[in-house]
Amino acid sequence: MKTILVVEDDPAILRGLEEVLVAEHYRVLTAATGTMGLTLGKKENLDLIILDLGLPDLNGEEVCKQLRTAGVPTPLLMLTSKSQEMDKVLGLELGADDYMTKPFSVRELLARIRALLRRDHGMKKELEEYAFGQIVVDFRKQETARKGKPVKLSVREYAVLKFLILHEGEVVTRDMLLNEVWGYEHFPTTRTVDNYILALRKKLEGENATPRHILTVHTAGYKFVKDAT
Ligand code: CA
Repeated sequence: MKTILVVEDDPAILRGLEEVLVAEHYRVLTAATGTMGLTLGKKENLDLIILDLGLPDLNGEEVCKQLRTAGVPTPLLMLTSKSQEMDKVLGLELGADDYMTKPFSVRELLARIRALLRRDHGMKKELEEYAFGQIVVDFRKQETARKGKPVKLSVREYAVLKFLILHEGEVVTRDMLLNEVWGYEHFPTTRTVDNYILALRKKLEGENATPRHILTVHTAGYKFVKDAT
C-alpha cells in the first residue's frame, strides 16, 4: 500500500482529499501546517507528498525546499490557487515534480498521482528481464520464451504483463490497467482488459491450464504471482 502525505491548511479540502485517497486504497497522513508537513515528510517513509503552496506558517515553497535540502527524494505534487500562478514555476524550480491549480478535478488529480508514483517506481526498478514459472521475458527486446520456445506477444500485451509484474502480489483493477496501459485519453471497455488477460494467460500458461500466475481476484480485478502455489 502506498503512503501519501497531504499538507493542506483548509480543513474541508484536507478532509476531502483524505476521503478520496483512502477510497483509492492509499494510506494517508495529514498535516494542517507547513511545520507539521516538514516533520512528517522527513520522518515517515512516504511514496508521495501533496503540498499546498499557501500555508499559514511555513509556506509550501519553503517546505519543499527544506525537504529537498534534507535529501528527501519523495515525489511532490504542489497545490496552488489561481492567484498564485507565478509561484507555480517557482514551485517546480524548488523541486516539486508536478503541480495542480485549485479547484481541480478529482479524476485528474488521481491520474497525476498515479503518474508520479509510476515514475518513482520506474526509477527504482526498471524492469528489463523477468522470469517466472516456465516463462522468461525480455522487455527490452520484447522477446518471450515458454519452456525455451518463443512466444509472440503484442506491444500492448507486453505493457499489460509489465504492469502486472511491477505490481506483483497486489490486486490490479481493470480501471488501473485502463488508466496505466491504455492511458486515460482512451476508453476501451473493461471487457477489452479481460480479453487481453485471457490472451496473455493462453500464451503464457497454456490452453487449458488453471491460471497459476495471472490470477483473477473475484469482483476486484487481477493479481500477478511469481511463484505458483
Ligand atoms: Ca492554503
